[in-house]
Amino acid sequence: MKLKLNFILSFTFCIISIASCFSSKQVAENKQVVEKKRPAQKVQNVDEFNAAIASVLPGDTILIANGIWKDVELKFHANGNEKQKIYILAEEKGKVFFEGQSNIKMGGEHLHLEGLVFRNGYTATSAVISLQKDKTTPCNYCRVTECVIDNYNPPERFDTDYWVEIYGKHNRFDHNYLVGKRNRGVTLAVRLKNERDRENYNRIDHNYFGYHPILGSNGGETLRVGTSHYSLSNSNTRVEDNYFERCNGEHEIISSKSCQNIFDNNTFYECQGTLTMRHGNETLVENNYFIGNRKANTGGIRVINETQTVRNNYLEGLTGYRFRGALVVMNGVPNSPLNRYFQVKDSEVSNNLVIDSDYIQLCAGSDEERSATPINSSFKNNIIYNANTSKNDVFTIYDDVSGIDFQNNILSSNIDQPRFKEKDITGFEHKKLNITKSGDLSQVSDYPNIGTKTDKERPSADNTGVTWYPRKNYQIEFGVGKSIKVEPGENTLQEAIKKAEMGDVLELTSGGAYHQTRSIKLDKTISIRSIDAKNPPVITFERSPLIALENGGSLSLNGLHISGKESDDYSGNAVIRTSRYSMINNYKLLVNNCQITDLDVNHSFNFLKVYKNTFADSIALSNTIFKNISGHVLNLDKEIEDRGIYNVENVVIDNCIFEDIGGTAIKLYRGGRDESTFGPMIWLSDTKFINIGHDKRNKNDAAIYLHGVQHAELSNLEIVKSKKINLYLIVGDPVIRLKNIDLQGSEQIQSNSEAYQSENINYKSE
Ligand code: CA
Repeated sequence: MKLKLNFILSFTFCIISIASCFSSKQVAENKQVVEKKRPAQKVQNVDEFNAAIASVLPGDTILIANGIWKDVELKFHANGNEKQKIYILAEEKGKVFFEGQSNIKMGGEHLHLEGLVFRNGYTATSAVISLQKDKTTPCNYCRVTECVIDNYNPPERFDTDYWVEIYGKHNRFDHNYLVGKRNRGVTLAVRLKNERDRENYNRIDHNYFGYHPILGSNGGETLRVGTSHYSLSNSNTRVEDNYFERCNGEHEIISSKSCQNIFDNNTFYECQGTLTMRHGNETLVENNYFIGNRKANTGGIRVINETQTVRNNYLEGLTGYRFRGALVVMNGVPNSPLNRYFQVKDSEVSNNLVIDSDYIQLCAGSDEERSATPINSSFKNNIIYNANTSKNDVFTIYDDVSGIDFQNNILSSNIDQPRFKEKDITGFEHKKLNITKSGDLSQVSDYPNIGTKTDKERPSADNTGVTWYPRKNYQIEFGVGKSIKVEPGENTLQEAIKKAEMGDVLELTSGGAYHQTRSIKLDKTISIRSIDAKNPPVITFERSPLIALENGGSLSLNGLHISGKESDDYSGNAVIRTSRYSMINNYKLLVNNCQITDLDVNHSFNFLKVYKNTFADSIALSNTIFKNISGHVLNLDKEIEDRGIYNVENVVIDNCIFEDIGGTAIKLYRGGRDESTFGPMIWLSDTKFINIGHDKRNKNDAAIYLHGVQHAELSNLEIVKSKKINLYLIVGDPVIRLKNIDLQGSEQIQSNSEAYQSENINYKSE
């Protein structure tokens, strides 16, 4: 009997040993948990949590019970020690959810937080997870690991918060998954407000920073270290082994605003923006991977300030222009104030591998204010190779680069020799290299020291964040659901939309008559289409709007005829409008192969009516006729405070006809001088405008009005008997190209600036 018991005991011990070996990553911590004297204490609510914290001792573990914790604000204030940390752990990872208006503030030393999920709500405080209990109690030697913050946003897009703010020293933030930050405010901020927060040696590693949609304003950074105010202090923050995926909030994916930070071995996957050394000196950026896959506005690294080192990075498939180039070295402001641009000095860009990327920008931002060119700096041993793109003019040199020592750089034969004022810049050699693929990365076997040079694993979705929480794809995708047939008749469309799920496609009968007596509220991604565009179904509606895009709504229309002739006889009707309130989710609107007619029962009948604090990721109109409209077709001008906020990122209009429009066909407005965003952008091609803008209520006094637009390409347009195209160019260095435009009996193009390109513009009086 005794023998048998011994056997069972040793067998059990064996199982425990094996189990503990399985998670090697946490052996050290688990061992401490096992060694502590007191058993883990499970808490079910805030009172129990507070009681547990009040009597907690070094080495203790508090388990947060499984379930949904709603509207809870935890204060994790305690002090462990080097050998005995204090642990707060989820009872089971993936089963503890903080929802509603919840947050946690930590303060003290040697604390460890693990396994919490924040979702379905937002914090009412300034941060979801704060490493500072109050102004006098920061965290030191604390760790936050395997936590999730998922789409935890307030309803107002310009209410500001952080998801994580780090104060104090020697903290570690690792293996967390942060996805779907949508409102203004940095996802993760390292704060340097007090002396005790500087020279912090905080480490941010192995996190998965997921999709961060475009904010449409400054304040959409994913990671910020410091602020301009304390930017000349050392932060000594180390950011390594993280995965950034489609972090598109604004120009700066990362804004380094302090000294002596290290960014090592991070992957930036299809991110619109750059790792920016915005303020502060002595930053090291090495062994990072920027993989753009030729997606729009994907960028690399932007250098500002002194003694910066950018070496052994891998940059591939980046298309971003200007401040979002693959490599950008800025001009500075002489005697710059802290919040402007310091001159680049004593800095080095070396051994980087740049493949199939469109722009390298030197002395970027050069203007009357930013006139201080880089000095005592070098650009050497870089390979810039375009194998799969035909882009030749990769280098843009805006100013005198004599302060940069160029040496031993290699270019593929199709890339133009960098030149300034018609003089070749030496230090570049055209060579044919043997470029091979290893996985999805290009390699140059003859130059093993160029490109990333590290033994560490490349960060990806598979080796960052947590393993136990599903990856969220918050991109707006049409047509990914099922198809649903909708019979003609009264309000059948509304009934179908009510039942439909995200991504579904509603199929309307050819030639069918669909009539709406009520407005339809749409808060999901839906496509409405007919099978046969030649005999389109006709949609009429009484109430305005036909469809209201509420938060979460996106719409694709295909092969339909929408007529306003049955609409109630009021002014200010609309076919589609956004929510009247702030939309935290961006939306998309696609219209293809449609006829939009007879929006003229009364004045100011618009096709799309938008409200303030709403933002379209993209609006695309193609192969569509807009005819007899008393108001505007697209009028995206509701952000009027001139703070660099705007209502749409991308507008694409191709092969359309606009005819007899009383208001403006297209108006995009972005005011102010902020340079943190890339939009709005418009591509307008192969389109005819006839009799546009003559209604006396058209205050825009234009057929097309582009104000503060950052990128506009207008080509192959016929404009007949219409008001003017008005260009108001104010910010940065916008790309405005007008080509093949025939104006017949129309007003002349008007612009406040000559800073646009035009080719083949023809005026005919009649
Ligand atoms: Ca910014």
